[in-house]
Amino acid sequence: EAAVKNEILAKAREMQVKFIRLQFTDILGVLKNVAITVEQLEKALDGELMFDGSSIEGFVRIEESDMYLRPDPSTFVVFPWRPREGAVARLMCDVYNPDGTPFEGCPRNALKKALAEAAEMGYSMNVGPEAEFFLFQVDENGQPTLKTHDNAGYFDLTPVDMGENARRSMVLTLEDMGFEIEASHHEVAPGQHEIDFKYGDALDVADKIVTFKFVVRTIAQRHGLHATFMPKPIFGINGSGMHCHQSLFVDGKNAFYDAGSPDGMSQLAKYYIGGLMKHARAFAAITNPTVNSYKRLVPGYEAPVYIAWSERNRSPLIRVPAKRGMSTRIELRCPDPSCNPYLAIAAMLKCGMDGIKNKIEPATPCEKNIYHMSPAERADLGIGSLPASLMEAMQELSADEVVKSALGPHIFEKFIEAKTKEWDSFRVQVHPWEVEEYLSKF
Ligand code: GLN
Ligand code: MG
Ligand code: MG
Ligand code: MG
Repeated sequence: EAAVKNEILAKAREMQVKFIRLQFTDILGVLKNVAITVEQLEKALDGELMFDGSSIEGFVRIEESDMYLRPDPSTFVVFPWRPREGAVARLMCDVYNPDGTPFEGCPRNALKKALAEAAEMGYSMNVGPEAEFFLFQVDENGQPTLKTHDNAGYFDLTPVDMGENARRSMVLTLEDMGFEIEASHHEVAPGQHEIDFKYGDALDVADKIVTFKFVVRTIAQRHGLHATFMPKPIFGINGSGMHCHQSLFVDGKNAFYDAGSPDGMSQLAKYYIGGLMKHARAFAAITNPTVNSYKRLVPGYEAPVYIAWSERNRSPLIRVPAKRGMSTRIELRCPDPSCNPYLAIAAMLKCGMDGIKNKIEPATPCEKNIYHMSPAERADLGIGSLPASLMEAMQELSADEVVKSALGPHIFEKFIEAKTKEWDSFRVQVHPWEVEEYLSKF
């Protein structure tokens, strides 16, 4: 403990750090921070810094608003785009109550709890996310528009333009911050990009996802562009997903791999898939938490709609990539980058573990294109669909004890409260589609 603390204090001195941002996310996954000066760092590392949590989304009631931030020393990193002298660093924090107990409204604590439960059964979880995003132009007032910076498509090489440069600089910045970038490419839609970093331990990856979004937005802005992780910014073209590759390890070995089975997958992996499929309609509220998320989950745009799995084709909810050995994993394709990664990963893990505990066999893999099936064919094969709206997803969540247990009662209650407000505000609007459809008809 003391050694780690001294190491960070030394690093901060060596890198001429002046400001440290203590970061955490609220229930909706929005990154928050309190900046302190380097003089306060030792106190902060001892978990002695208090802040007022009363105005943070879903945090606490006014009368119990004092919270402590406990930085995780392994998350210390200097922001490469800030000046070298008087540099800025950050530390990810867990939120604690004044009495020293973990605050039950802290999403990072919720993920740690789920991981600890899995660890008790001998499992550690690895996650590899593929976050997609759009780069849009800003207008003369600096406001984001829906105009993309190019007209390119999947894996296209555009002439060096603003977007290319921005993506290049995002990759370099992320590498400076300790990310191992595996691939970065143009996505299917104009102005759409993807940057993939190496899979890793679930908690570290959740921290990296929030950092990733923050870096991508910051660098885009420095290139005069607006980056958005909104799931479906434009009707009629692909939306942005955040496919999550995942596997469980036991003693450093991939427990999803079984060299002796015909498809190279272990029974454990099958149960994990069974658990994910069983609870998919309920965890959708967490992995796809906005009104807009459900505009992405429609046929025709490479996003999943039906609850099925496959070892070959890419249309279903769960795909098993061909790699085996240490790289054996499953890919869940519904999550989108508007989710809170801590809660999303906690929910996926809990559901997969439920499959393992209760030996839930998944249905037979579906190698046909489900989008070409009739509703009757799907019904025959027992293929259900993901919720069609945030409202439907919330109802499913409210009825699912496993997903609820991943959140804990505090987060569940605050989440539903915030999302009901969001849904109601959407529900009462008169949308342009309605005007176009009905104004002259009636
Ligand atoms: N954008 C697609 C989605 O919404 C995924 C496209 C891809 O990566 N093949 O999930
Ligand atoms: Mg990809
Ligand atoms: Mg992609
Ligand atoms: Mg993918």
